[in-house]
Amino acid sequence: MSPTKRTRRSKLQPVAWLVLLALALAACQPAPAMASDSTPAPTEAATAPSLAPTAAPTQTITPTQPPQPEPTTAVSSPLAEIPLSELEEILTTPFQRPAPGLDDGHHGVDFSFYTRGERYDILGLPVLSVLDGRVAAVITDRPPYGNMILVETPLDQLPAEWIDALGLDASPDAPTQPPRLQCPEQERPFAPEGQQRSLYLLYAHLQEPPAFSIGDQVLSGQQIGLVGNTGMSGNPHLHLEVRVGPSFATFDQMAHYTNSATPEEMAAYCAWRISGQFHMLDPMAFIRLAAAR
Ligand SMILES: [Zn+2]
Repeated sequence: MSPTKRTRRSKLQPVAWLVLLALALAACQPAPAMASDSTPAPTEAATAPSLAPTAAPTQTITPTQPPQPEPTTAVSSPLAEIPLSELEEILTTPFQRPAPGLDDGHHGVDFSFYTRGERYDILGLPVLSVLDGRVAAVITDRPPYGNMILVETPLDQLPAEWIDALGLDASPDAPTQPPRLQCPEQERPFAPEGQQRSLYLLYAHLQEPPAFSIGDQVLSGQQIGLVGNTGMSGNPHLHLEVRVGPSFATFDQMAHYTNSATPEEMAAYCAWRISGQFHMLDPMAFIRLAAAR
């Protein structure tokens, strides 16, 4: 080995160490710099655009777009364990349209059974909201509905073909004056003409007072109560009414057929039942339509 070569090697070794030391210091530099900075460390998401400045800056950010209203197509059976297509089998009292101004007939449908599958009684079966909607009334054990909840769904949230098939855009019924039901003098509390209209579904005789308040949103299929026997009810059953009426109607009380009913309670009952503003439908027409989809 020549002395010249040995000299070169001994000169190169310190240079290599210096390069390694410089690289090591450079790699450590970001950490001390961030630690001494009082501002919080930038997140990966925040630093990502600076690392990739060409990454599609014109892309629209989805969360900032306003939600688009979509038709409410979800329809659930009002009774857990009973599919829409089987409700007909437990229909005990069908819809019977009353004469104008009269509170007779049957304004809805009754569902009940004594034995079905492993159940020996409908009492306590969960009651589900048929449609998405907003709570329009919660009544605690007053005649005739007992514990009751009313849910409103605006017509413009329903598929157009349902509106046509059910005749939901028909004008309100003409009220009978004077009504043949004891009704306190009152102004028509809801403006029926030229206003947005909604479908209202009423669930009555529930076992417990519904744990909801007026204005609460409920979803199709959400439990809203249990089948009961409260109010003017001879046996455990679900009484379901379907009406179309002016949107945003709410009832903070409703009662009749009891000496304890106040004029305000009776007025609300008359408005709902016989004023003509809430046009009643056969709930089975709606259920058959929904079950056939
Ligand atoms: Zn009934």
